[in-house]
Amino acid sequence: MERKIIDRMEKTGQITQEELSALLLCNDDKNMEYLAKRAREMTWRYYGNKIYIRGLIEFTNFCRNDCYYCGIRRSNGNAERYRLSEEDILSAAGLGYRLGFRTFVLQGGEDPWFTDEKICALVSALKSNYPDCAVTLSIGEKKRDSYQAYFDAGADRYLLRHETADEVHYGKLHPPVLSLSDRRQCLYDLKDIGYQTGCGFMVGSPGQTIKTLFKDLMLIKELSPHMVGIGPFIPHRDTPFSQEAPGTIERTLRLLSIIRLIHPRVLLPATTALGTIHPDGRRQGILAGANVVMPNLSPWHVREKYALYNGKVSSGGEAAEGLQALSEELKHIGYQIAVEIGHSKV
Ligand code: SAH
Repeated sequence: MERKIIDRMEKTGQITQEELSALLLCNDDKNMEYLAKRAREMTWRYYGNKIYIRGLIEFTNFCRNDCYYCGIRRSNGNAERYRLSEEDILSAAGLGYRLGFRTFVLQGGEDPWFTDEKICALVSALKSNYPDCAVTLSIGEKKRDSYQAYFDAGADRYLLRHETADEVHYGKLHPPVLSLSDRRQCLYDLKDIGYQTGCGFMVGSPGQTIKTLFKDLMLIKELSPHMVGIGPFIPHRDTPFSQEAPGTIERTLRLLSIIRLIHPRVLLPATTALGTIHPDGRRQGILAGANVVMPNLSPWHVREKYALYNGKVSSGGEAAEGLQALSEELKHIGYQIAVEIGHSKV
């Protein structure tokens, strides 16, 4: 029964809520290995055995928002706040370039100190120093004009997880000033401007159900993003969700495979959260159809401070400096790291 669903999903790119439910609740390991296999073969069809690497620079943990799940939310008085200088950011990129990175992802809280002018200056400095590299921004919800300005300054890509495509669930994860309709509008603006755009969600966030996950998949079908970032929810001790259960690796892997099969050309990272929840998470993510990893390029002294959740890994294979080890690990399972810009084929 599950195999039929998987085969049909592969052929048509479609899934129903009942089928999603069957795949997520299935406890036959053989069938789930089949799901992962179909998904990774789909990845090979479009991207071969290449794994794209992105250097993640977490440049500020100041945030004006108060998302209930996030460790750098405004109300967390225990968070030790930092901002990187332009010099720090450029030198992190320089290190990354020497290591082979050709994409830099600037991620941060929504920090008003970084005005549009400052972001544009950063983007143009990165693009003029490294014209053969892509710059990805992941700095939250902005006005369309701001997105346009960053794009005109040279930004290529933008990551903005939608978090959940269900209004009521969105309201359980965020304070009332934040809304799903604004988030969606941002995503459509970004795509319209010409960014390679990424949406995504946490797996196992409090209040998530199969019904809300189905809506997430339908949003992916509708938006047709270039990238989709998913990873397990992991509680942070200083948030309202400190006592909630984390998402599971199994469900995250299944959803990675399903997303690969319903939206085949998407770039799909095996995220840091997946590597945090299980020591083998990243490798398993790739075997389930992921084809991107985003090692941490932030200066060492700030890595611990960008704590979205507890236990977040930033050393070993998660560190940019661990690229060699990562490369070996991937070789074992038949993959190779690609030193190239690695645009989406969506
Ligand atoms: N301010 C930016 C970047 C947010 S951090 C923005 O709004 O897009 C990047 C992602 O980390 C978030 O979109 C969220 O999905 C994820 N995240 C935050 N807290 C988390 C937690 N406790 N567990 C797992 N993922 C989390």
